[in-house]
Amino acid sequence: MRTHNLLYRREGDIKRFVEEKGIEDSSRLLIQVFTGVPEREHIEKVQSELRSLFQKVGVIGTTTGGEIFNGRVYENTTVLSFTSFERAEVRTALSSNPVSVQAGREVSETLRDENTKLLFLFADGLYTNGDDVLDAVNEEFGSVPVVGGLAGDNFAFKGTYVFTSEELTDRGIVGASINTDRLHVNTHYNLGWVPVGREMEVTRAEGNRIYEIEGKPVVDLYREYLGTSAGELLPHLAIEFPLVLERDGVLLARACLGVAEDRSMLYTGDIRQGERVRFSIWDTGVMLDSASRNLNTFRLNPSESIFVYTCLARKYLMGKEVEVESKYLQNVAPTSGFLTYGEFYNYEGRNRFMNYTFTAVSLSEGESARKEEDYDIHKKPDKELVRFRALVSLVNTITKELKDANTKLEKLAERDELTGLYNRRKMLSLLKEQLRKAERYGKSFCVLMADIDNFKSINDTYGHQAGDEVLVGISTVLKRSLRDTDMYSRWGGEEFLVIMPETELEGGVVVAEKLRVEVLKFFSKKPVSDVSVSVGVTAYREGDWVESLLSRADRAMYTAKHRGKNLVVTF
Ligand code: GH3
Ligand code: MG
Ligand code: MG
Repeated sequence: MRTHNLLYRREGDIKRFVEEKGIEDSSRLLIQVFTGVPEREHIEKVQSELRSLFQKVGVIGTTTGGEIFNGRVYENTTVLSFTSFERAEVRTALSSNPVSVQAGREVSETLRDENTKLLFLFADGLYTNGDDVLDAVNEEFGSVPVVGGLAGDNFAFKGTYVFTSEELTDRGIVGASINTDRLHVNTHYNLGWVPVGREMEVTRAEGNRIYEIEGKPVVDLYREYLGTSAGELLPHLAIEFPLVLERDGVLLARACLGVAEDRSMLYTGDIRQGERVRFSIWDTGVMLDSASRNLNTFRLNPSESIFVYTCLARKYLMGKEVEVESKYLQNVAPTSGFLTYGEFYNYEGRNRFMNYTFTAVSLSEGESARKEEDYDIHKKPDKELVRFRALVSLVNTITKELKDANTKLEKLAERDELTGLYNRRKMLSLLKEQLRKAERYGKSFCVLMADIDNFKSINDTYGHQAGDEVLVGISTVLKRSLRDTDMYSRWGGEEFLVIMPETELEGGVVVAEKLRVEVLKFFSKKPVSDVSVSVGVTAYREGDWVESLLSRADRAMYTAKHRGKNLVVTF
């Protein structure tokens, strides 16, 4: 296959170019048009010029937020890329169905071929929902990779178009399928945003709209973290600090595009309730590393044509620097594409709708790859970048320290200081959870209350310190005699409460008896040798609640005391 890229300036350019390059009208020719002139008239002129020259070829076109011509980024121009395949047949389709899923289905039906190896898709950037389109396409094509993106109009948000050589729509999608027995396809994506700070749960969201994060109105959260008023938020800050989330192992970025009257915020793609998001900031270094890796991958794999679909927001942030990701690719193979309002991308066998990313695909029908390493993205991190990365590291290290400290505090808050066993508060919550499970699944469990006999006199005789050692000794016996699934706690002064999940009363009694005997044995060799416990056991009964269950265990234990101590009693 061969790709020739044309920077179209005036009428007649296409004819001259096609003759010069010897490009033939054929069903194995794909023409992609990327135009930064989002006007009907202009597009129709290009369409008619193409129609006069070609009858058999597949043409797909889109308006843009910038055009990529031989790896360089242009604005307000029109770029045409002509790809002549040796074997692959090209099919194209357009749907202006306003329902994205339907449009996806219609286009898929026309494009479908059992030999489809790749799909190019362009959709309008203002109405079509990229996720919905991909859902429909995935249904039809399974794991066939989709590349392309949403049409742009350079942040004017007035009108974006997609087209073939015959049709044009500002609300719909256009696609081309590449059908052949063999095609090398390599894809790459580059985000470049680095998550900072802590993870936050999206507590209320619908489609591409967030209402609440961590139970707070989303606008308030932005103001709190970015230290700014809502008015200052848009468009600059919201675009520069996108939210990132991990979905199926891929880091996705979502930027806020607007605040609605009800103070919800609208994003560049869907965010689901329950997903965890973090703020992120742009890191040129990360972007450069990834761009270098991409260059190498495409260089070391067969690559005859390269297409780039990259988010317009990147140009907004990087300025002219945005070219660094695409210009070196031109040394590998002819590179063209456009700056999008959203990208279609295939990662690990699944098509996804992305935002804020650089995506690229390299194609080859042949087997050979360029192996020589004659060029590279050389860029030493400058002082600014070093400073910036230190700042990111600082924020993330502090976040991690806080998180670790919190985890430690949470642990401490649920343990008894002397014995290290769960405390009463924690045990109570475990007991409530166990009751819920029993209600839901009808599974029995047992509760056991053990109280040290004559503990007051132990303290009086041997001293408080020795008494403490006895308490620690009992915790050792509990750990040794109980199962991993059992839960045990220091319930009060010299009382211990045990929960035994999935245990019937008979089993509970056996454990209680074992515990009683183990206590005697354990202390028989210790300085305070005369230690015993009285134990009350009870099993869960339907309709039980915390108090009813505990009071039975308590009463059983007191009955044991009355009957002479060092005993097990069931209720
Ligand atoms: P019974 O056999 O009827 O249970 O008698 P008892 O002496 O064990 O019960 P009582 O409730 O009269 O006394 C409990 C004692 O446990 C009183 C209290 O000083 C002691 N105690 C409670 N917490 C601790 C502790 O943390 N360390 C020590 N050393 N003693 C404690
Ligand atoms: Mg007691
Ligand atoms: Mg006691």
